[in-house]
Amino acid sequence: MNPLSNLNSTLALLAVVATLGYSLSCAFFPYKSCRYCRGYGKFRSSFLGGIRLCRACKGTGLRLRLPPG
Ligand SMILES: [Zn+2]
Repeated sequence: MNPLSNLNSTLALLAVVATLGYSLSCAFFPYKSCRYCRGYGKFRSSFLGGIRLCRACKGTGLRLRLPPG
């Protein structure tokens, strides 16, 4: 086995591991941080320092993420 094919198989293995890892992380952690409030679930209003809930995630800061594909 020459070094180049060894490298290729290593890269292929890494790609498989990364794909599996992402699928597994989706299965175990189906939520991701809301991109509107960056996971805070609320916004701090500049006006009077008020706080209002994020409407996209209803204040949870979490959004259900879709599985790959
Ligand atoms: Zn949000």
